[in-house]
Amino acid sequence: MHDLLLKNAQVFTGSPEAVARTLAVSGGRIAAVGCPEDAPARETVDAGGRWLLPGFVDCHTHALYAGDRMAEHLMKMQGASYADIAKAGGGIISTVKAVRAASENQLIEQTLPRLHALAAEGVTSIEIKSGYGLDLETELKMLRAIRALPRHIALDVTATFIGAHAVPPGTSRKTDMEDVLDKMRPSVAEEKLADTVDIFVEHIAFDVGDLGRLAEKAAKLGLKLRAHTDQLSNLGATRRAAELGALSCDHLEYMDEADATAMGKAGTVAVLLPAAFYFLKETRKPPVELLRRHRVSMAVATDLNPGTSPVPSLLTAMHMAGIFFGLTADEVLAGVTRNAARALGLEGRIGALAPGLDADFCLWDVPAPGFFSYQMGGIRPMQRFFKGKRT
Ligand SMILES: [Zn+2]
Repeated sequence: MHDLLLKNAQVFTGSPEAVARTLAVSGGRIAAVGCPEDAPARETVDAGGRWLLPGFVDCHTHALYAGDRMAEHLMKMQGASYADIAKAGGGIISTVKAVRAASENQLIEQTLPRLHALAAEGVTSIEIKSGYGLDLETELKMLRAIRALPRHIALDVTATFIGAHAVPPGTSRKTDMEDVLDKMRPSVAEEKLADTVDIFVEHIAFDVGDLGRLAEKAAKLGLKLRAHTDQLSNLGATRRAAELGALSCDHLEYMDEADATAMGKAGTVAVLLPAAFYFLKETRKPPVELLRRHRVSMAVATDLNPGTSPVPSLLTAMHMAGIFFGLTADEVLAGVTRNAARALGLEGRIGALAPGLDADFCLWDVPAPGFFSYQMGGIRPMQRFFKGKRT
């Protein structure tokens, strides 16, 4: 006896020819796909021929923060310079100050509306990074708040420690790395506050040497590596991160063929962040054709953050991935399901509709899954299921 049976559905299993009609759930997991329509179940839902898709996975966000950067953005739109903005108290440091001043509960309260917006669009899993503390106490506060979020919302949350996000004011880069690597990481691991670690490799942040040292420390602590690479310039960080076994490299606007080769070889996922590209009015695009040629899996995420992507909408990022980066509708869907799960190292648990995986899925009243790459806005799932329960 199954807990739940969805019948008369178009069950999306990743390829157009592999569509099943039924899906059964037991104990919060998918028990069967394509079982008989009269299989015994405590509850049977007639999907009326609608599409059943895996819950979407937003695999790259900085969704936990306090305050906003609206004033700075409005100034920028009127042509203000970085100096003007810094003088007015803007920039990442203003977020660091707001996060340091907020309590753990205030951080949770301010973050939940953004997560509800994502969940209402069919997101069932999200990754959230720390990184606005830049000191041990605040980074730990952020990670504890991230860990507490699933008590307030039906959402899977992967916590990423990104102590190496920006250089704190008043310190040299070298002192900061020592701080990050030797003080912060052990406490993060002891309290099991993080699943993965991340680093921002860029001429304005950390370098390829720092990436190597981070990877070494992370491996010892059993934490998987991810990296922000090639967003503003190519420092060779993407190929190095791939060689180091990174789960994903993210942004990638400046990556080249050597990077694509290394990623394909290592199975590192390319996470594309078109909402940040849009918000920053960037013109350089990630080389999607190279990624295809080297069989690099592509994921799409919101990069939700107060400074460069205040976009709590994965459907918007999905649409932008098609318009700006030329991803096909199939690539976009894979990018927020199985490839996003791979970027988190969770492909055996979420991101697909297959027996044994978590029963996270949504019923959509769309003519075909490609509709997400066509209509922008105004699409919501009819029903959302999280671990087999309607939410
Ligand atoms: Zn980011």
